[in-house]
Amino acid sequence: MEIIEATWIFGVMLAFAAITPPALHYLKGKNFAASLQFPENQPNSPELTIVLPVRNESIVIRDKLDEIVGMEYPMSRVSILVLDSASTDRTGSIARQHLKKNAGEASWKIENVKRPGKSVALNLALDFIETEFFVMMDADAMLPPSSLRLLSRWFQDPGIGAVCGQLDSHHGSRGHPYRSRFNVLRVGESAIDSTPIFEGSICAFRMSAIGHSRINSGSNADDSQLAMLVRRNGFRAIMDPEIKFFEPDSEYSVEKRSRRVRRAQGLSRAFWANRDLRSKNYGAYASIFSSQLYFHLIFPWLISVSVVSILLPIFFGLLEFPDIGWHAVLFPGAILAMGSASRTCRGIFGGSLILVHSHILLLSGRSLHIWEPDAELRLAIQRNRRES
Ligand code: GDP
Ligand code: MN
Repeated sequence: MEIIEATWIFGVMLAFAAITPPALHYLKGKNFAASLQFPENQPNSPELTIVLPVRNESIVIRDKLDEIVGMEYPMSRVSILVLDSASTDRTGSIARQHLKKNAGEASWKIENVKRPGKSVALNLALDFIETEFFVMMDADAMLPPSSLRLLSRWFQDPGIGAVCGQLDSHHGSRGHPYRSRFNVLRVGESAIDSTPIFEGSICAFRMSAIGHSRINSGSNADDSQLAMLVRRNGFRAIMDPEIKFFEPDSEYSVEKRSRRVRRAQGLSRAFWANRDLRSKNYGAYASIFSSQLYFHLIFPWLISVSVVSILLPIFFGLLEFPDIGWHAVLFPGAILAMGSASRTCRGIFGGSLILVHSHILLLSGRSLHIWEPDAELRLAIQRNRRES
């Protein structure tokens, strides 16, 4: 009986202890978020290479190219680089046909990459980008026409090495409170120094901040890998909340899990591989990095143990119900009910399960860095574009 009581009390205490450091980090980030200093508009538009890695994107590729060419930016300063990794749905030739007719003043090139993997393609691209700045995009994200202009203005500050956009958390229905807190924290980290977590849907980099460094091509989270690399090389990597992109990813929910596990895996690997960024040499970034390392690698396990410790006594309590005091079931049950009523708690717990799942796959040697595009998501994007 005492052991039952002790188990759930342990679970509750563990949950509070585990969540305290990330909660403090979040509050600090939230405090700083409003102090991010925005740059003036850029008077002269720097030359940009737009890197568009694609594999089997025939559904969305034309609309994506139109979106780029239609941006508020002098297209004579833009060169589009499509990296096609052995698509089997003619993505490359569709892109070529479309660019021949519609590229306008933008120059363009289509490179075929034999080996699959977005990070492989990206590393190759880094070897032949000729401009000082490049922008990377996902084929399946929708961007506002101001994106290139807003991104490029940041590079007037020579200390900025990378900038990314922000997922519009008001659109669709995917876990709002959690997503908007995620966004606030990324901006807060950017104001303090840099954010280690980047959005590959739209991001831009200064070539000299990358130098000869390359990312791990056997892993994904290429976006966050690049953000960490840029910071390692002494430049800042920030999220600009004025650059909002949109993904209609919430209308259906089954796909989500495999996609989220894949992303969690890449991010966990990136945090582990870069764990030396916790060193004091990296100033304020060291504490941002440590906090995210903890949140992605350790916290999910602590919170899982804690939930199991609260659940087990309920289970055993119910088995022996009349003998055991009702409070043995009622108290932990009430705590779980309160937790699951909060969307943020559900978001944190759900995210932790995804991370634990991704760690188990990693530990058993299964890497998810090669994947098929989600056709449903692509069709939803297409519908969205047609409607707007
Ligand atoms: P998610 O947004 O993380 O779910 O990933 P996506 O499936 O949207 O992929 C991001 C971008 O990378 C898309 O433009 C994909 O077409 C592209 N991509 C995915 N795998 C590969 C690959 O093996 N090679 C290349 N070149 N691009 C890829
Ligand atoms: Mn995507």
